[in-house]
Amino acid sequence: MSSYTQKKLSQATLVAKADDYIDTTTGGITPPIITSTTYARDDRYNSINEANVYGRDDNPSFVQAEVVLAELEQGEAALLFASGMAAIATLFYTLGSGSHVVLPDSMYWGVSSWTRSYCDRADIRISYYDAANAESIATAMEGAARTDMVWIETPANPMMHVCDIARAVEIAHAADAKVVVDNTTPTPIFSQPLTLGADLVVHSATKTLNGHSDVLAGAIVTRETDEHWDKIASERHGAGAVPGAFEAWLLLRGMRTLSVRAERASDNAQKIADYLEANAAVAQVLYPGLASHPGHVVASNQMHGGYGSLLSFLVVGDADATVAVAGRLNLIVSATSLGGVETLIEHRFSVEPPETGVPENLLRLAVGIEHVDDLIADLDQALMPLKA
Ligand code: PLP
Repeated sequence: MSSYTQKKLSQATLVAKADDYIDTTTGGITPPIITSTTYARDDRYNSINEANVYGRDDNPSFVQAEVVLAELEQGEAALLFASGMAAIATLFYTLGSGSHVVLPDSMYWGVSSWTRSYCDRADIRISYYDAANAESIATAMEGAARTDMVWIETPANPMMHVCDIARAVEIAHAADAKVVVDNTTPTPIFSQPLTLGADLVVHSATKTLNGHSDVLAGAIVTRETDEHWDKIASERHGAGAVPGAFEAWLLLRGMRTLSVRAERASDNAQKIADYLEANAAVAQVLYPGLASHPGHVVASNQMHGGYGSLLSFLVVGDADATVAVAGRLNLIVSATSLGGVETLIEHRFSVEPPETGVPENLLRLAVGIEHVDDLIADLDQALMPLKA
């Protein structure tokens, strides 16, 4: 950890400085990409650099991004993974058979679908709680001899439910359960769950952390480097779900502009949410930055400086009318994912299975950093025919 951390620099400075790297060989101020998959030993058979033995998970290109992420989340350590799902799967692999986990009833569909199938195979019992009500975690834990892990995603993708992290931690810790928060959507710029008592944070670093829609990566950050953390590191070492060196390098490069991208995209999202809420072609806007959102007060207490770049809205019309709105957009691209510099829109009803209950008239908007007037003008012309 750099000396800057002790001086409590702002997050904007932490990411821009990226652990204050200066290459000792060349004086370069950006790190090289270390592509070597193995490392030489000396004539006494010791590694020349004891941190580096074999490149499955020993790679200096990961380490700088991990240090920056740990600093951003105010955790003790971080590990990079090949994708967000690889990070999440690794956490579940550390649970033994007979474990009990408590998950929200509304969350990123990829996690809910994978956990359903994996936990069934691995003899791990899942109970669900109301994603918008931390109190319901206690009910979901009732009846289990012990609960190993409580999962939170807030604001949750794509229904934007808000969960009170501090209250969830209180309930889970009273029963000795670990709390994991998927912090992909808000990013550590707006939300730092470890400071609210959560034990672990996971990220799809594919999203805002990298920010350019050109890297698949994931991360786990821990509040404490305890026994469970050793298990996670050992699982990554053994199973090898690591990113490539180039991806890790690109992620670090993307993170250096994280604070300006996240702030601009969040400002845009707030303005777009305000605009959509006043539009007669829109039935409802789901964005915690709006006073009308049921989670607004909790979000305002636990988020700082903004509410993130993701929002959803319900169009006045059926599935066909909703798809047609997306189809009329010129600037905003119809595609999955979020957190890039470019604004994307997605009709989740077309891609999620019916059991998730995502409304047919919902459009999810992953807001980018374009000029907000251009984005609003594009949305305005696409919604216009619905007002006729
Ligand atoms: N968590 C959230 C909230 C996501 O939105 C996603 C992907 O969309 C993931 C996790 C999975 O990340 P990845 O696509 O990097 O595997």
